[in-house]
Amino acid sequence: MRLKGNFQSAFFLFASVLISTLSYGQSCGTVVTPASLQAQQSFMPGYFGCEQINTLNREFQMTVHIVEDSLGNTGYDESQLEDALALLNEMFSPIGFSFRICEVRRIEDFQFQDYRSAEDRENLLGMYYQVNTINVYLVNSIIADSGIEAAGLGTFPGGSDTVWITKETMNGQVYTLPHEMGHFFGLYHTFETEVGGPELVDGSNCETAGDLVCDTEASPTDDPDDFEDCNYIGNPATDSNGDFYVPPANNIMSYVPAECRCRFTPQQYNRMIEQYLQFRTNLW
Ligand SMILES: [Zn+2]
Repeated sequence: MRLKGNFQSAFFLFASVLISTLSYGQSCGTVVTPASLQAQQSFMPGYFGCEQINTLNREFQMTVHIVEDSLGNTGYDESQLEDALALLNEMFSPIGFSFRICEVRRIEDFQFQDYRSAEDRENLLGMYYQVNTINVYLVNSIIADSGIEAAGLGTFPGGSDTVWITKETMNGQVYTLPHEMGHFFGLYHTFETEVGGPELVDGSNCETAGDLVCDTEASPTDDPDDFEDCNYIGNPATDSNGDFYVPPANNIMSYVPAECRCRFTPQQYNRMIEQYLQFRTNLW
């Protein structure tokens, strides 16, 4: 039980909540906890300035847990798992990361169909968790620690090996899985400011601010309505230098509409490799 206790406290410390705006279904927000920041900042990344995408061939095993409702229904079309997995593998193939679903489990306990609190999460993980695999939980609803209803939730490196997505989101919105997996391997949103404040347009503080990635443009917005036809159409905004933002309109870790989310940048890929090597080598 010691393992379980350590695991739960580690999860509590490092859990971060990645939220989606349900009306759009393709957005996700994050709460970066102080503990997760401490872990991230104690690790000095070496990916800055590296334009070449590194490769680290790894196959990760996933356990997909689908929570049943009170009538014993899952509310999820399992045939879509194949599409979600295919997209996930495609997006991570440049760094040699591949994913395999080794087991799909049904959780016959409807008390867990709604994820409402950290307590729910810890109770669920205490009972339904497969070590050394990426545990993907499909649930009816998610209330993030911030109190906001979410469509997805991931855990940064240093925490448990878990990703949470609502069934509604997974039904037809398979692009959410690569986004959450980006967080799982240590990526922040492109508009993140909790880490070191806003990133400047000229990139001069990109190693310590924003998303800690220098080849993603600084972004002032988390509103999908600020994009049309994969172009930024929001109100012109400037940073503290007076430079106008030209936010990324196609990045997986941004809040652009789903059809525009088609890429990770080289530094995002390299950061994920480094975060894996630092924090998640228990996975194979
Ligand atoms: Zn997110």
